[in-house]
Amino acid sequence: MIELPTNPGILSPEQKKQLAAWVGYYRDLGVYDFYQRAGDGTQAVIDTPPEPELPRATLRPPPEPEFAAVPETIVHITPPVGSAADILYSIREDLGDCTRCPLSQTRKKIVFGDGDPNAQLFFVGEGPGADEDEQGLPFVGRAGQLLNNMIAAMGLRRDQVYIANIVKCRPPQNRVPEPIEANTCTPFLLRQIAAVKPRMLVALGATAATYLTGTKRALNSLRGQVHAAHGTNLVVTYHPAYLLRDPRQKGEAWKDLQLVMQHLGMKPPKAGAS
Ligand code: URA
Repeated sequence: MIELPTNPGILSPEQKKQLAAWVGYYRDLGVYDFYQRAGDGTQAVIDTPPEPELPRATLRPPPEPEFAAVPETIVHITPPVGSAADILYSIREDLGDCTRCPLSQTRKKIVFGDGDPNAQLFFVGEGPGADEDEQGLPFVGRAGQLLNNMIAAMGLRRDQVYIANIVKCRPPQNRVPEPIEANTCTPFLLRQIAAVKPRMLVALGATAATYLTGTKRALNSLRGQVHAAHGTNLVVTYHPAYLLRDPRQKGEAWKDLQLVMQHLGMKPPKAGAS
């Protein structure tokens, strides 16, 4: 038993500690009411503060997993099957009536690409012009006439090569395609390249060179060498429209085409042969 002074306000720290231990002990026994002898000999009930209420354990459902469980099934991405022509057909189907970029709002026809699905040589231009937009075929205008002559100079017919562009819809006023337009469209071009499996790509002009090499470098610094690109080879040359404006560069373009022929083991056609 602790001898408590009649006025609890004057308990010493040691007494307070003892009292707390004592009260705790009796509480453990289930005794909650304590009496303090008053100075006049009567007994008064000491109001012991209620035990602080412990937070009640509530039954909650187990938390939802943050992410949906990964399905057990393994998804296989199957490579395209069928002939190159079949694969090109399915790429065209996937492209559909494309509205993926703003060029779709002003174009007349999508210019998908044209030529031999098994071509060894794959020419890539910038984008359709007015004639191509009307006809839905690449390089059918004046620049296309010059490209046909360049192909003939190599001893090939146009239907022996494949021709496509960085963008498949005509940019208004034949402006250079915006990056968002080119980047939206080139995945289809890359699928066409993968389908045709050419031995050589020829980038016609700076836009094709930029997007096929993935580097924005001056055209002349990319010419004169065979680059590795998209699982095949790549040579960069001038765009036929540029050669129409500056025909003095045709000799330089011919050097680039000779590099292509040399690399593919092609013999230049005999003079006078058509
Ligand atoms: N210029 C191009 O870059 N592509 C075409 O198809 C026609 C002109």
